[in-house]
Amino acid sequence: MSAERDAAMVRAAIAAAASADERDVPVGAVVFDASGHEIARAANAREALGDPTAHAEVLALRRAAEIVGDGWRLEGTTLAVTLEPCTMCAGALVLARVERVLFGAWEPKTGAVGSLWDVVRDRRLNHRPQVRGGILEAECAALLDTFFHTQR
Ligand SMILES: [Zn+2]
Repeated sequence: MSAERDAAMVRAAIAAAASADERDVPVGAVVFDASGHEIARAANAREALGDPTAHAEVLALRRAAEIVGDGWRLEGTTLAVTLEPCTMCAGALVLARVERVLFGAWEPKTGAVGSLWDVVRDRRLNHRPQVRGGILEAECAALLDTFFHTQR
């Protein structure tokens, strides 16, 4: 798949982030099928739902699994997210058998897809998604900078 296509997928995640509640950190995630068609999207809704697990990636994976209808398996799919996934989301991506993970901004403090940990590419796991990080990094980081700037 081309770099342009990957960027378009992350751009969709940026659009998904815009639907976050104003109290929620704007992180967006979109799941695409093997041919690159969007299956489901979500924004971080931890505050809106009062749910510590309501990260954009988890919500998008849940919706995609409902829609795809092959039980819980999301084989062949790509998940694009604006921010490097945390340990919970990285674990969920592995469990869902997502094939590719694309993300925008690196998260050096909590990132589990290359920064602090590399959960999805741990050689002890038998399913390891492919990863590309830092796609549209500046745009994705700007979403967070704007949010935290207005919070202060
Ligand atoms: Zn997460």
